[in-house]
Amino acid sequence: MDARPLLNRRLDGLGTTIFAEMSALATATGAINLGQGFPDTDGPEAVREAAVRALREGRGNQYPPGPGVPELRAAISEHQRRFYELTVDPDTEVLVTAGATEAIAAAMLALLEPGDEVIAFEPFYDSYAACVAMAGATRVPLTLRAPSFRPDLDELRSKITPRTRLLLLNTPHNPTGTVLTRDELGAIAALAVEHDLLVVTDEVYEHLTFDGTAHVPIAAFPGMRERTVSISSAGKTFSFTGWKVGWVTASAPLVTAVRTAKQYLTYVSAGPFQYAVAEALRLPDSFFDGLRADLRSKRDLLADGLTAAGFEVYLPQGTYFVTTDVAPFGEKDAYAFCRALPERCGVVAVPNSVFYDDPEAGRSQVRFTFCKRKGVLEEATTRLKRLAV
Ligand code: PMP
Ligand code: GLN
Repeated sequence: MDARPLLNRRLDGLGTTIFAEMSALATATGAINLGQGFPDTDGPEAVREAAVRALREGRGNQYPPGPGVPELRAAISEHQRRFYELTVDPDTEVLVTAGATEAIAAAMLALLEPGDEVIAFEPFYDSYAACVAMAGATRVPLTLRAPSFRPDLDELRSKITPRTRLLLLNTPHNPTGTVLTRDELGAIAALAVEHDLLVVTDEVYEHLTFDGTAHVPIAAFPGMRERTVSISSAGKTFSFTGWKVGWVTASAPLVTAVRTAKQYLTYVSAGPFQYAVAEALRLPDSFFDGLRADLRSKRDLLADGLTAAGFEVYLPQGTYFVTTDVAPFGEKDAYAFCRALPERCGVVAVPNSVFYDDPEAGRSQVRFTFCKRKGVLEEATTRLKRLAV
């Protein structure tokens, strides 16, 4: 159905998300879905049981408090201290949201004026473009280029204008897997302070880093506490993407600003799941280490399989996505390639090209997720070997 004549100008060009489109293609064709990032096994049984208990005991079955249930806010505060030595007041500096998605939307709607410029890395997670547009602001891309996908900090400096209001960061970065280093973050923080910019940082993959790469929150850098909105979510870390429990940590004025918008988006959400996520955040280190080790071996399995099948593979330092280039197959258009892939090989992937403003930059890049069972990844790479023949 064509909604274009009805859509306002801010939403012009924003059709069905690529994730929904590719998952629908997987369902329609029965192909293996390595497109949308959701695990094919659920998270820890104890966490699931905690949700069942909360439901049965009637905790959270009615509207929870606007900022989130106190148990979860306390657990988020403890988590920030435990992993990053960051102190956040659970009563004034934490806000629970309907996934990171709502946190991003509420932050953009609360903090941007029409006409403001927002600098974000491209390829960008699709909701950034939509939320910046809904706020009436303008997206200014800073392109992460293959093969290293590192940000060019001189280019970042050159993109800052008097209209720049906010830097929208994402580390570990979806889809490239880039994890910003301490030096990069320090330089970005210094620019934010120098130009008095706000920083909204999407850290939903904070626990999914590999090979000793550490996730460092930019909120920890000098001068950043009062200008940074940090966002995360239970979906990726605990493998319950359907629960949609996310959160914001920031200074009290910033949390209050974001909550003002959030109140009128969902008001509150996911009552019983909030209690379960509070338990999840307190899982022992062995859980977080096990998650990383499991995903690292799956990353290597998928990356090796894709290399053997003929893809150019860019090994990610974080997230559960591998970006590839399909140019070695003579393919020039990632979107067309992904639309044809179920028919050709019985596999679904996501074209990174749709995450760029610059149509040339990611024209033949394709993303595969490895948050699936090993047998599924093996079967997928076996099927993808057909591309070489
Ligand atoms: N940010 C990034 C970078 C993502 O990949 C995703 C996908 N889950 C989200 C935000 C959304 O997170 P949630 O499901 O918690 O809304
Ligand atoms: N974050 C997920 C991904 O990148 C998708 C989430 C969504 O469909 N909105 O695959």
